[in-house]
Amino acid sequence: MIQNGIIADISDIAGFEASEYAKVYDMKGNYVSAGFVDIHTHGGGGADFMDATDDAFDTALGYQLENGVTGVVATSLTAAYEDICCFMDKAREYMEVPHTKKSKLLGVHLEGPFISVKGCGAQNPKYLMNPNKDSYSFIIKNRDIIKIVTIAPELDTDGSMTRELTENGILVSGGHDDGAYPEFVPAFKSGLKHMTHIYCAMSGFGTKAGVREIGLREYGLMTDNVTCEIIADNIHITPEMARFILKYKGADNVAVVSDSLRCAGMPADGRLYNLGSKYDSASLKVKVSDGIAMLADGSKFAGSITSVHKMVKNLINAGIPVVDAFKTGTSVPARIIGEKKIGSVKKGFAADLCELNENFDIVSVFLDGKKVK
Ligand SMILES: [Zn+2]
Repeated sequence: MIQNGIIADISDIAGFEASEYAKVYDMKGNYVSAGFVDIHTHGGGGADFMDATDDAFDTALGYQLENGVTGVVATSLTAAYEDICCFMDKAREYMEVPHTKKSKLLGVHLEGPFISVKGCGAQNPKYLMNPNKDSYSFIIKNRDIIKIVTIAPELDTDGSMTRELTENGILVSGGHDDGAYPEFVPAFKSGLKHMTHIYCAMSGFGTKAGVREIGLREYGLMTDNVTCEIIADNIHITPEMARFILKYKGADNVAVVSDSLRCAGMPADGRLYNLGSKYDSASLKVKVSDGIAMLADGSKFAGSITSVHKMVKNLINAGIPVVDAFKTGTSVPARIIGEKKIGSVKKGFAADLCELNENFDIVSVFLDGKKVK
């Protein structure tokens, strides 16, 4: 039972009849889950959040809603400082106004610029920054909208940036690093609690003078109370890798993220797409082929074009129990960013719902109790 956009009750309503006060929606035996929550997405449908226009936000959030995602954390790219600020200003402005038929914008995720040169992945190394009080003060200033900041933890040598951000209610996430044990330990001791797309652009097992040593991946996996993101598109990580991570961490600590780019939901006909803002003349170019977005020179994976919903289906196909797979795309990401009223089908939660058929394909989507697809 839904009242004023909120799940008011869940009970057996066999025999319940529509009246002038209540409508009945018959899901005819289909499944219902909470709407998906994507805490790491750069855009889709031809727009990137870094374009920093209402149009771009409308397009990307419309694309997400089409794919059953009802809550989004818009993610920046390492870019010029002014461009990151522009993106945050637009996000704040956008969040203040109600929108129809768009995923809810829950806040922003800054992916960089405090990441390593070697681990920057598809991010432009030109704009990388080193942490010191002055350089990250802009993050504290925007704490009202920032949910997550991805940093290369070895750069925060004494953990002071991690501590300060954590004290300001921002989740610090490790990733895009080039660390060697124990360089990243101070950040963990200072509050780092999340891993940005684990196993992608992240240091791992290596040998130092013939001795095998762990990297950030393994340290994050084995540290309690540390959650992680996975890009479960069967390309960045295989189904077996997904099973390995889920077995190690448990479904309660894993969030699938799309890391989707402008080209998600767009034609893969050889055309080039801008990575990041379309107004940035220095922006790198991306090409889509065989279901993957690569840098135009073919050197690196750039992000995904797969939705959270498809990734949840991939996990089910990999043998993950259905309820666990859905958790990773709904309640876990919501909990990670501290949302207490979305991501679950529970009394008191927002009626953001997906109806799915027996193949887990989306039949309809509800936002605050209203059917939007
Ligand atoms: Zn990303």
